Amino acid sequence: MKRGYQYRIYPNKEQRILLEQHFGSIRFVYNRSLFIKNTMYSKFKINVTEIDLNNNLTSLKEFHPWLKDLNSQSLQQANRNLLTGFKNFFEGNGDYPTRKSKRDNNFSFQVPQNYQINLTTSKIYLPKIGWIKIVLHRDFLDKEFIKNELVTKQVNGELILDQKLNKEFDILKTLTVSRTSAGRYHVSILINDHVPEPISVEFHETTTIGIDVGIKSFAILSSGEVIDNPRYLLKSLKKLKKLQRAVSKKQKGSKNRKKAILKLAKQHQLVANQRNDFQHKVSIKIISESQAICLEDLNVSGMIKNHKLAQAISDVGWSEFIRKLTYKAEWYGKTILRIGRFDVSSKLCNVCGYKKDDLTLKTREWECPSCKTFHDRDVNAAINIKNIALNNLNTVGTTERACGLTDISQRYEARSHWF
Ligand SMILES: [Zn+2]
Repeated sequence: MKRGYQYRIYPNKEQRILLEQHFGSIRFVYNRSLFIKNTMYSKFKINVTEIDLNNNLTSLKEFHPWLKDLNSQSLQQANRNLLTGFKNFFEGNGDYPTRKSKRDNNFSFQVPQNYQINLTTSKIYLPKIGWIKIVLHRDFLDKEFIKNELVTKQVNGELILDQKLNKEFDILKTLTVSRTSAGRYHVSILINDHVPEPISVEFHETTTIGIDVGIKSFAILSSGEVIDNPRYLLKSLKKLKKLQRAVSKKQKGSKNRKKAILKLAKQHQLVANQRNDFQHKVSIKIISESQAICLEDLNVSGMIKNHKLAQAISDVGWSEFIRKLTYKAEWYGKTILRIGRFDVSSKLCNVCGYKKDDLTLKTREWECPSCKTFHDRDVNAAINIKNIALNNLNTVGTTERACGLTDISQRYEARSHWF
């Protein structure tokens, strides 16, 4: 199984400059390749491949010599990521790739190989950047795992884990370097421990749970359980908004504005940590209590752009929660069942199937005109999500076909009509 392990790194001043240079250049290459791919297709109907884009790097370096200072594997990885984005889009698993910008916090790049970790002095070597201080905590780098699974080397009595020496074992995979808005740097190392994925746990109607996204609450389960955002997180979010306002009031370029921005970035970090912690706890709880989990496939990014619920939804960090839930399900052999992105789940009566077409977002509770069942809007939706998911599984197989959405364009359209 593949897992990512994240560690904080402390680059010195020169290394920070080099890292920033990498962040910017990787974005540059990515955007350039995106432009080439779009133009070649729209003008000449030519499908540009990864090899084409990598070949183009040579001439790109001639025009922009500063690109030569960068790890070329990281540049190639930017092309690979772009093409993966296209592949995902055409398979219906993501949005159409767009330009990356500084403003969207795109500060990261990947190092596919040739990194080293000094286990004695806690430093990590990145090609073209050098040795950076790293904080290594337990988990994958535990002594037993390294002794049993990996090859190390001794240099001046120091123990070094060299990715190159371990290449053939296919355990140490891609490393990602990133920076948060608060100015913290991390590396995340993808490890394939080759432990086979657990055999799927069988599930039945009684051990399956449906989850609905909450607006007022974080999530609502088909069992009727409501999971609220913790108070401390709400408090921190409130403070975050206050600090955001404070920044916008300060004069541009002023010292006070700089101070306010730093305060804001720190608060962002705090909120991110608290939210992470909360999401880990909730996902562990849900995974341990059920054998299968049913979700509605929401287009969160589309919702954020289009709807006034934007703030509420980005605050709860739903898509990140789903990501945590999904990989934890994989770890424990649990099943995730997704249903299509369409809005019938809240409008159907889960008892008799009556469809209440005039149900507005404001209506929190309603009585079914047909069978007179009284519904809590969200619990009813969660039950429907569960029923639809189980029903799809029993009938057609894939949810898309069950919804009558046979091709990508239809699916795409359905997503944009979520509300
Ligand atoms: Zn009914």
